[in-house]
Amino acid sequence: MSAVDAIVVSQGTVQRRAIAKAITLLESTRADHRAQADELLTALLPHTGKSLRLGISGVPGVGKSTFIEALGLHLIEQGHRVAVLTIDPSSSVSGGSILGDKTRMEKLSMHEKAYIRPSPSSGTLGGVAEKTREAMLVCEAAGYDIVIVETVGVGQSETAVQGMTDMFVLMQLPNAGDDLQAIKKGVMELADLVVINKADIDADAATRAQAMITSSLRLLGMHGNPNDPHSDKHWQPQVISLSALLGQGVDTFWKAVSEFQTLQTANGLFNQRRQNQSLSWMWERIDAGLKQAFKQNSAVREQLPQLTASVQAGQLAASTAARELLRTWNQR
Ligand code: GDP
Repeated sequence: MSAVDAIVVSQGTVQRRAIAKAITLLESTRADHRAQADELLTALLPHTGKSLRLGISGVPGVGKSTFIEALGLHLIEQGHRVAVLTIDPSSSVSGGSILGDKTRMEKLSMHEKAYIRPSPSSGTLGGVAEKTREAMLVCEAAGYDIVIVETVGVGQSETAVQGMTDMFVLMQLPNAGDDLQAIKKGVMELADLVVINKADIDADAATRAQAMITSSLRLLGMHGNPNDPHSDKHWQPQVISLSALLGQGVDTFWKAVSEFQTLQTANGLFNQRRQNQSLSWMWERIDAGLKQAFKQNSAVREQLPQLTASVQAGQLAASTAARELLRTWNQR
């Protein structure tokens, strides 16, 4: 059986092994593996794109894995197949992992209709994000119709996850409303849905947080202009409070996700977002590839130490040095 058939057509253990093998190939840095991986991706592409891609972020301890496990099991019960991929920004920095704990999502990871893959363990965030996007395509080709990409609220990883998913969910604790300053600037704007978890601990605080975050989203203009006659055609970010531990509110959450999908599909934004994401992905990888080729160019490498020293010593403007290096590169 070909690698493509093993992913698209086979089932059970054979399929699982084929997915794992494909993802390992995608993560390899060897040039011959990369060529094989690109060939595989191209062959898989017609079988991709049919899933809902859901991004979930939140600080460590907010309850992401508890929530994803509850949600995943709920979705499997409804007949879905669920893949969970992770982008762990800590692994690219320290080699360690915030999300690497093997006991996470114990029930879900053992379920035959779920596929859980931890974060690629090394590389820059851009590189890790690229591998995760590609792993997402493999999972889609294998028939997983819900792909969850999870990340920790650290660094730029939220932007990366929002840039590869159809809907971005931000998880918060009930006390989030008391200190909105603590919510990282710029992250709230990315959210299509905010979940206040652990509502079972303090229902009043959860309600308060829900009200505060709803009004701050309104202030950010994320709730649309009430005078806009088309505002009902556009999604207004929602805030939902629930308890992942007790499994309460998971169905409400899923209802909101389905409403989002229906609305965005009807107004064309669902496809538009995916198209924009694919193109920015392409340009991002071109940028990265060009930069790497630039740095490896022998003429550039020869000139670089001297120009770097001149810029550091204040003898040469940074922009002038850049232009000189680019000229060298263009003459290669
Ligand atoms: P993660 O680091 O974001 O993945 O968080 P975890 O899912 O590992 O949860 C951290 C801790 O919070 C664990 O001890 C969970 O049992 C607990 N927890 C998660 N969700 C809830 C909830 O809804 N209510 C309560 N009381 N505890 C929760």
